[in-house]
Parts: sequence; C-alpha cells; structure tokens
Amino acid sequence: MCLEFVIPSRHGQPPKMTRENQFSPWICHVCDRTFQDIESTACSICYKTTCAAHLRHVAHFNPESDLYELRPICLHCAVTGSS
Ligand SMILES: [Zn+2]
Ligand SMILES: [Zn+2]
Repeated sequence: MCLEFVIPSRHGQPPKMTRENQFSPWICHVCDRTFQDIESTACSICYKTTCAAHLRHVAHFNPESDLYELRPICLHCAVTGSS
C-alpha cells in the first residue's frame, strides 16, 4: 500500500502561485486578527507576528554598532519583558 502525503488546502482555497502585491496572510498573536494587505512585522523578542496597533518601537542600545536602534516589540513583551 502506497501512502502519499497530500497537503490539504485550507478552507478549500487553492494554493496561490502568484504573489504580486500581496503578502501571505498572517495573524497578530495579540489580537488574533488576520492581516493580508500589509507586511507582517515580527516582535524582536518573541519573534511572533504582531500588528501595528500592538507593536511599539523601543530604542535599544546596540554595543556592536554603538548606536541606539529601534526594535519592534509587541505589547506582551513590552509589559512582561523586564530585561
Ligand atoms: Zn494586534
Ligand atoms: Zn513579543
């Protein structure tokens, strides 16, 4: 018996081959909303995609470049992260 692994398409949608002017859908892990029209931004701490409403840019000192750089940090990490 031959078993083939077939990837089922979600919600019956065929896989898209063209990606012109369109980002793959992503979900903000804070508000669980799905976004498709804008590019996803990942939190620099937990690396989870976060929407602009739940993302804040915090100045973080980088000793390597000797410069302060803005890092995207999600609301969860901004509240719970203490380091
Ligand atoms: Zn959000
Ligand atoms: Zn985070």
